[in-house]
Amino acid sequence: MTDRRYLSDAAKAEIIERFAGRCGECGFPFYRHDGIEWDHALPLWLAGTNDDGNWQPLHVECHKIKTKREAAARAKGNRLLGRTKQGRKQKIPSRPFWRPKMKRLKMGERRER
Ligand SMILES: [Zn+2]
Repeated sequence: MTDRRYLSDAAKAEIIERFAGRCGECGFPFYRHDGIEWDHALPLWLAGTNDDGNWQPLHVECHKIKTKREAAARAKGNRLLGRTKQGRKQKIPSRPFWRPKMKRLKMGERRER
């Protein structure tokens, strides 16, 4: 993130007021020892802006979860568009063939019920 704008203390106070002192992800309040992370509700890569209205306070853990979820969604979007880090469509490597573990029966043997 290079174009991330820092929020002023006044803006933070206003945003936290708007969220009634609660986390934008889980809805639970912040406690004194909780670190507050400032997050773009709509990510910049999804045409989100740096407007005060697009910021939300999150718990550190909630921020991690949201970031992870968005990274997955972003990767999926890029896959659907055929975008990769290399800039062209890549072949998806085949996965190893998976077989359920099953006891092999000998000739004439019956599976127990
Ligand atoms: Zn939270």
